[in-house]
Amino acid sequence: MRALIAGSTLALVVVLGACAGRPISPEVAAAQTLTETPSATPRPATPTATRTAMPTPSPTMTPAPTLLPLTIEVRLSSSSITQGETIEIDVACNQPCQASAQLADQTIRMFSPAEDRAWAALAAHALAEPGQRTLRIEAATVSGQRAALVAPVSVQEGSFTSELLTFDANTALLLDPAISDAENIRMDQVFGVYSPQMLWEGPLVWPWEGYITSEFGTRRVYQDVVQSFHTGIDIDGETGDAILACARGVVVLAEPLQVRGNAVVINHGAGILSGYYHLDEIEVSAGQIVQAGEQIGLMGSTGLSTGSHLHWEVRVGGVAANPRQWADQPMGPMKEIEP
Ligand SMILES: [Zn+2]
Repeated sequence: MRALIAGSTLALVVVLGACAGRPISPEVAAAQTLTETPSATPRPATPTATRTAMPTPSPTMTPAPTLLPLTIEVRLSSSSITQGETIEIDVACNQPCQASAQLADQTIRMFSPAEDRAWAALAAHALAEPGQRTLRIEAATVSGQRAALVAPVSVQEGSFTSELLTFDANTALLLDPAISDAENIRMDQVFGVYSPQMLWEGPLVWPWEGYITSEFGTRRVYQDVVQSFHTGIDIDGETGDAILACARGVVVLAEPLQVRGNAVVINHGAGILSGYYHLDEIEVSAGQIVQAGEQIGLMGSTGLSTGSHLHWEVRVGGVAANPRQWADQPMGPMKEIEP
């Protein structure tokens, strides 16, 4: 483990298996003070050899006020992520800071619940290659102090089933990449928004309590070819059953789509969005604020669908994540981070 630090000492604390438990679990698996490396920015207090050889005129500038060195503490709810699952990153600085995170080439925007805190949920893509990744956390103050640290995060293979789907000729036409690609690009844009607020609280509400006909991550085989994986959970029900918002948020899409049918997408803030597809009727409109458990539409079988059901999905920083985990446990910033 190595940290790149500009004039500060960092503490990294990894809490293993805390599963977003709040208040923070006392199971501190590893606590480490990372050593300082030379700053990239030359500091006046540290003359270089060149400066020693060429004496500078007597100092005329006012000595810089002593800044409290920036220190950051990072807690991960787990240091490993199974494909499609989410872990949480909590950052605490000793002074106001802005933080961001990077996992390999994936940039993770962080939400600030307080001026010296940052939080993000990080989901592993359902098809992510298992193996070790480097998580890099950076923090900066308004005065320009910067601190960063890296920690290993391992991506684990999930256990998923495969399912064969067949459609009649007309429905199968919707598999035309010209249709599905355009819709997927549109949805990636919808799910790619980031709002620096947190509108939800606690575990997500199931939008419909019914029999699960297809779990998240299931590999989808159409016409003998693995086309994709299942980005959500399919819940069985009758046309007309009431579909509820899984959490408070702002409706950002409410319209008929060719593949997803009548669709609703809700932005819950901090990079978390939820989608509800194949509705018979949409009962909300874009821009509307909805509460957890509020009715947003009726179950149906519109779009690429073989019968009445709800497809429910949750996106975390644009990545489709298993909604079941979000319904099982509360996600969000830790209330307190103990020193
Ligand atoms: Zn589905």
